Amino acid sequence: MKTFSMKPDPDERTGAVSCVICGSSSDRPYWDCGDFRFVRCRDCGHVYQNPQPVFDDLQNRYQTDYFDYELENDTAFLDLMLRGLADIRFDELTEGLDRPRRFLDVGCATGALLQHLKTQDWDVEGVEICVPAAVYGQKERGVTIHIGTIDTLDLPRDSFDVVHFSHVIEHVPDPRAFLADVQDLLKPGGYAIIVTPNTSGLQAKLFGPQWRSAIADHLNLFSARNLKRLVEECGLQARAQRTWGGIAMGMAPAWIKRPLDRLAKPLGFGDVVLVLAQKPLA
Ligand SMILES: [Zn+2]
Repeated sequence: MKTFSMKPDPDERTGAVSCVICGSSSDRPYWDCGDFRFVRCRDCGHVYQNPQPVFDDLQNRYQTDYFDYELENDTAFLDLMLRGLADIRFDELTEGLDRPRRFLDVGCATGALLQHLKTQDWDVEGVEICVPAAVYGQKERGVTIHIGTIDTLDLPRDSFDVVHFSHVIEHVPDPRAFLADVQDLLKPGGYAIIVTPNTSGLQAKLFGPQWRSAIADHLNLFSARNLKRLVEECGLQARAQRTWGGIAMGMAPAWIKRPLDRLAKPLGFGDVVLVLAQKPLA
C-alpha cells in the first residue's frame, strides 16, 4: 500500500513551533526531505516538522486528491483497523457497556469502520476534514459524519464510550490540544484508541528521511514512549500498547520480511504503534 502525501504548495505560510511533548525550543536538524524538514528535540527526542504550515493552509491539502486516495484504499485501511482492534480485544473490552454504546471515529475518511460497527450494535459518528470523503460516507454508507475538526464542532462532552483515531494525530498541528479535546468528549471510563507511525520502530531507524511516514502531511512523528507520555499528560491513563509491521512490502525479500513482521509485535519494534487509553472514572 502506498502512502499518500500532497506536495506542499509553495505559497503555504509556515511558522516556527516548539516541541509538543516537552515544550523545548531546542532542536537539531534530523531528516531533510527537500521541501520540508524534520527536527529532533534535544530534550526529549521528539521528531517534528519545523517550521510547520499554518492550519488554514494545511486544510486545503485534504480535498479531492486525498479523497481519491482514501476511497482507493478503504478496504485495506478497514482491514488494518479491524486487526488493530482485535489486537486489543476490543469486542471483549466493550461488550458489557450499557446501550446505546457510542463510538466516534475522528478522521473517519469514507466511514468504512463506522459502517462496520453500526452492524455490531454501536451508535456511530465520524469527524472528517476532507469534504468529499465525508459526503461520500454520508450518502453511500448512511453514517453520520461531521465535517470539520473536533475543536470547532460542538460535540457533546462526556458522551462517547470510545473515541478512535487511526493515522490522524500525526497530521494534527497541536496534538496536545487535540488529546485534551478527546478526553473531554469521552465518558468517564471511556476509551481512546490511537494509531500512528512509530519512530521507535525498525523502519524509521533503517530508512530515516526515506521512511514511508516521513512525509509532508505528518507534522509530528511519535515514539511509543513520547506518545504515552503525552496521552497521560492530557488526563488519560494508558492501558495497553501494541506495535506491528516489521518491514514494508517491496523493501526486503520475503525471507527477511516474514520473520521481521512476526517479531515486530512481541519485541515492540513495529512500524505502527497503537495506544489504548482510558479516561479516569471520577
Ligand atoms: Zn521535547
